[in-house]
Amino acid sequence: MTTAAPDPAEYGLEAEAERIRAEARRRFAGFVRDMVNPGSYFREHDRRDAARHVIGRDVISQAAEIGLLGFSLPVSVGGEGRDTFEWGLVVEELARISLDPGFSVLIDTTVEITEVLRSSGHTELIDRYVPDLVQGRRYVALGAYESKDPYDYESTARLEGEEWVLNGTKHFVTGGLVADLFVMFVRDQASNDVLAFAVEADDPGVAVLPLETMGLRSMALAQVVLHDVRVPQWRQVWRADALSEFNTYARGRRIMTACGTVGALEGVLANCVEALSSRRRSGRRVLDYPNVERSIGEMRVLLEASRAATLRALNGTRYPGRDAYFDELATIAKHHVTESALRIGQLVLNLQGGEGYISTFPWEGFMRNVLGLIGGQGAQELLLLQLGQRTIVGLEGEQMRESAAELAVAKLADSWWALHAAESSQRDLAEQSSDAIRAVVSAAGLEGAGAGQGWLGELTALLDRAHALVDAVRSGQVPEAMPQEPTGLFEGRLGEMAERAWGWLACAVAQETGLLARMLRPSTLKEAAEGLPEDFTRDLLVVLTGAGVVDRGSDGRYTTDQRLEPVLIGGPRTAAFAARQRRALARASHLRTGTPGGGRELLTGSGAEAPILADVLVNTLLSRLDGLSQLLAAPGARVGCVADDGGRSAAALAQRMPFTDVCDLAGIEPVDRLALLWAPTAGQALVDLRRAITAGKQALVPGGWVVLPTPLPPKRRLGAASARLDLELAGGTGVLHQDLETLLRETGFGQVRTAWQDTVLGIRLTVARRP
Ligand SMILES: Cc1cc2nc3c(=O)[nH]c(=O)nc-3n(C[C@H](O)[C@H](O)[C@H](O)COP(=O)(O)OP(=O)(O)OC[C@H]3O[C@@H](n4cnc5c(N)ncnc54)[C@H](O)[C@@H]3O)c2cc1C
Repeated sequence: MTTAAPDPAEYGLEAEAERIRAEARRRFAGFVRDMVNPGSYFREHDRRDAARHVIGRDVISQAAEIGLLGFSLPVSVGGEGRDTFEWGLVVEELARISLDPGFSVLIDTTVEITEVLRSSGHTELIDRYVPDLVQGRRYVALGAYESKDPYDYESTARLEGEEWVLNGTKHFVTGGLVADLFVMFVRDQASNDVLAFAVEADDPGVAVLPLETMGLRSMALAQVVLHDVRVPQWRQVWRADALSEFNTYARGRRIMTACGTVGALEGVLANCVEALSSRRRSGRRVLDYPNVERSIGEMRVLLEASRAATLRALNGTRYPGRDAYFDELATIAKHHVTESALRIGQLVLNLQGGEGYISTFPWEGFMRNVLGLIGGQGAQELLLLQLGQRTIVGLEGEQMRESAAELAVAKLADSWWALHAAESSQRDLAEQSSDAIRAVVSAAGLEGAGAGQGWLGELTALLDRAHALVDAVRSGQVPEAMPQEPTGLFEGRLGEMAERAWGWLACAVAQETGLLARMLRPSTLKEAAEGLPEDFTRDLLVVLTGAGVVDRGSDGRYTTDQRLEPVLIGGPRTAAFAARQRRALARASHLRTGTPGGGRELLTGSGAEAPILADVLVNTLLSRLDGLSQLLAAPGARVGCVADDGGRSAAALAQRMPFTDVCDLAGIEPVDRLALLWAPTAGQALVDLRRAITAGKQALVPGGWVVLPTPLPPKRRLGAASARLDLELAGGTGVLHQDLETLLRETGFGQVRTAWQDTVLGIRLTVARRP
């Protein structure tokens, strides 16, 4: 379109598209103007003779001569080997220049079905038909639709000796009146599978009947009846599951429909402005009225957005991982372009006034033909349904994949806990280690490792090296190389656990040094190291690759598992992930030395884990906790926080509730008059919690809520045992979920429930309301 404001040549994809459009004009525009456009008006409007409505076979063979039919087909079958991106732009250009609405569809249909035959891989079928099709000596159409579900076709095939016998009617066949070959989709009577066959128009028993339509008459639409049509076995296009192949075909046609419509839209917009340019009303040019300018502006928006959607879909066809059967971008393009075309048609009819309804002008015909787009390759509604289903599955799948990656790291951490528990249980034999330690050892399957087998010394030395490494990294004294790894030091289960624990240690170090986040972008060793000693980085990468956290590509570059991106690129989830690593390091150190570290801000649901929970409170729970948003919006509303984590939870809440008075409370007083009480439970004994909840109830205003971030132990046995040991080391055994809910009810709270939980974070939010 000549009115495009920015120079498309400045943009990569646009520039390429523009070059191809220019090539299409140079090579094909003269042919369309000389051979296709003449007579198009009468072909579209005159109903007397169906055969004259259609574009003749001579036009098709000339299209082949100038290279149109072979443009996108492989060189091996006599084509030019250009890709779908390029072909789509040719189709767009053909539709823009052509005054005949069916021409670009007819051309693309035979090209796409030729590709269907070629991709079947059956030599006899290919040799017999494909060269003729590329050279325009034959035209092929496709019959699937029967006004039924595809797997419910009434058209059938049955094998009789060496031949298939086909029966049935295909109700809507584009190009049917000019075709001498059909690809027909029918149901196998024996297996019920959908099969496809090549059927020639002059096979005995084939009848082609013109199909009366509202418009698009040059598309040579027909019904094709098959009555006891006998075809040899080599004419079978696919041996089974032809429905999937049909979906591949529809995927291609959807995008080409979008391309053709974009071209037609461009043509109609240009024609519309031209037709209005000489029209005057009330002494002014109609085009100078602001409402008309506005309508033209809207048409331009619709056109350019359609073009953008289509270009994106075309570009997507170059993506090697494209879904073979359902192309989301092509579906979006077809849907969006069709809706835009309908709206543009409406605007044109409005701008053209009475002329809009007179059939000698092109406007009414445009509108009618646009309606033909609605059904082709799936009704608009159906496209939305399919897209919706794919979107839901895609988003849920993505969440699951991300969770799986985080869980994989958490499982490595279980082994870290297991090694420390094993060491501790052996060292403290005399003093009797705690139940929690024994539970970890048992869940890790390390009981059999037994005492006095000589591995304790090695294990202690290994863990010494591990903790020394962490201390060195934290103090900025990163060693030149990784300390000696556990490979070969232990046997059996202990050996496995040690390897995995070492993998987790590497992960924690790489996370702490920013290496993991850096390698979200594929990096060479040098790029990854960025300030770290190179040998150390190399060693670390070997361990990380072994642990499956980092992948080494064929080009030698390292990439962190992309599913970990949300926990590495910053924000509350990243902080919570880092907090979990720090907690495991600090608690393990505590277990070895007896020196507690980190304080209450390392407890589950407090400190660095508070921001993500505060996000959940405000973004997810506010609307689910009856009346809370009103209480918080009231002037002077107060939120009390009893996390005892150095004010970090209170700060996270205050940041998300900027107009509310959030107080970090050491104790709760009845005078506090709180709308919300935030009370993490980790590390608290039941008796303390009872006291806090009782005081909390008195401090809440009627209708106020208490939210209790609470540890949610993993389902896996070793994870659950490790979580329990973690809590014990923090100074409390933690309160069981049932006990907490009972406590809340006994204290007189109502609406007690789990309002949210995240198994990967290992936290649940229990809520209750003061009546
Ligand atoms: C111009 C044109 C050319 C065509 N050319 C060919 C051709 O060459 N070869 C060929 O085989 N066919 C051709 N067709 C037929 C075309 O493929 C079908 O019309 C198209 O697939 C839509 O199917 P349908 O007509 O059965 O509509 P339906 O799928 O029955 O849709 C009708 C309504 O039912 C709704 N609906 C259907 N299923 C569901 C569902 N599961 N859930 C919710 N809602 C649903 C739809 O949203 C829609 O509103 C052509 C059609 C047109 C208009």
